[in-house]
Amino acid sequence: MTAQTETPAPTVLRADSSTPLVSTDELPSNGQFIDGKIRPSSSGGTLDVVDPCTEEVLAQVPDGTVEDVDVAVAAAVAAQRQWGRLTPKERSLVLLQIAERVEKNTDLLVRLESANTGKPLEVSRDDISSTVDTFRFFAGAVRAITSQAAADYTENHLSVIIREPLGVVGVVTPWNYPLLMAAWKIAPILAAGNALVIKPSEQTPLTTMKFAELVADLLPAGVLNVVTGTGPVVGARLAEHPDIDMIALTGSVQSGRAVAQGAARSLKRVHLELGGKAPVVVFDDADLAEAASGLRAAGYWNSGQECGAGCRVLVHESVADAFVQHLVDQVASFVVGEPGAGDEVEIGPMVSKAHFDRVAGYLERAKKAGVRAAVGGSVLPGPGFFVAPTVLVDVTDDHEVAREEIFGPVVTVETFTDEAEAVRRANAVPYGLSASLWTENARRSHDVASKLDAGTVWVNSHLILATEAPWGGFKGSGYGRDLSIYALDDYSRTKHVMHNHGR
Ligand code: NAD
Repeated sequence: MTAQTETPAPTVLRADSSTPLVSTDELPSNGQFIDGKIRPSSSGGTLDVVDPCTEEVLAQVPDGTVEDVDVAVAAAVAAQRQWGRLTPKERSLVLLQIAERVEKNTDLLVRLESANTGKPLEVSRDDISSTVDTFRFFAGAVRAITSQAAADYTENHLSVIIREPLGVVGVVTPWNYPLLMAAWKIAPILAAGNALVIKPSEQTPLTTMKFAELVADLLPAGVLNVVTGTGPVVGARLAEHPDIDMIALTGSVQSGRAVAQGAARSLKRVHLELGGKAPVVVFDDADLAEAASGLRAAGYWNSGQECGAGCRVLVHESVADAFVQHLVDQVASFVVGEPGAGDEVEIGPMVSKAHFDRVAGYLERAKKAGVRAAVGGSVLPGPGFFVAPTVLVDVTDDHEVAREEIFGPVVTVETFTDEAEAVRRANAVPYGLSASLWTENARRSHDVASKLDAGTVWVNSHLILATEAPWGGFKGSGYGRDLSIYALDDYSRTKHVMHNHGR
């Protein structure tokens, strides 16, 4: 595969340090949000929240304990019955008010999200507007639930199928879209009549806490609780807690396994949105320029820290050189920098030192194994955890960069010779969250889409989401669906009530 090799490393645009994105009084309180009030952790311990652009401590949050979780779960259990008894219309009105409150505070939440994660402002704006849309969608959807018709399916016996809330849901969220991933859980969980206890990522808890403070007056105390802290303590307690009816986690496969094991003792339901390694299959009849331009967004949005990122290209060998040149041209034009440097920034830092080291490790080992960077391929000078937007070529499908989730601004390119091989190799990873194929052939667009083993398959597109459509994976990417009416199904249970009316 050929492509230009000498693209200079991008310069990291720096923000003016005298005007931080958020002021101290805009940060959330250093406390847990339990039973409608801000409370300190029972341990008194705190966790540092680090700005990934400067590596300085931005804020502190409580290092939550098992006791904190237990108090929050008790509050949720006490509040749930009354919340679940409200009519769909009443709950819907609260969700609409939440949407409005978030929308009114968009500017603050955008700046806070970018300050905590290093996300470009464009990404945070999209996160917050999608958060608003998620609450609006579920406010509408819960008033229009359809179900099997009540009828005499057995002589003289009327079957009525009722949708009930599950009760209390424990929620654990990741750092890549902190508020948006929280909203994907909170909105359907509340709409369906449940109460919840949510643990945001210890690295990015600020917008979830701020959200709780902003909507505190809209919800009955105890319906929404936020306990900050680490996965192995707070997350693990949520998974095993006997009074929690479902544990819903968005995160890595490893954390998914841990919560599923923790949930096994109480046999609670488990809802898992885990990692991805989305194949992007580019056929020889595809519009190559359009595919490369689509991947500019789909492979590098949120600095590649995206579970659905189009990160593993399989391109037909006859068009590989031309496609790689298009992709390199796209990727070489990215503007890298701190979100505070302005709207032109498109790629920010990795979220933490640990994650930066992980991504850097993949790049170093790939280089040693003979994988070539057609553009990028290395980390960028600090402070901050910046990685150059990268395209790796000469990749074989047995290399770890083609099989494992790198979760950074790195796209790998492999070649294939025929359609059957492309499908087989696209499916030959443990993940099954999303995939795309690029072709102008109508038969292929249906046939290959049906054969790709992923919860979402795009044709001539990648990483476009609709709140109305389900999002979730197959295989190692987990089970359960976010967004859409299917999430309402997941966060509720059916009850069959049968009336004997023949006497
Ligand atoms: P992570 O698994 O490290 O952390 C996710 C959450 O799980 C955090 O809140 C963490 O504290 C918690 N956790 C960790 N260990 C735990 C344990 N033993 N018990 C309970 N909770 C525990 O993931 P991350 O690094 O924050 O996020 C990145 C991962 O999330 C990637 O794999 C990405 O693909 C995935 N993700 C998936 C989706 C999706 O929709 N499928 C969306 C966003 C992110």
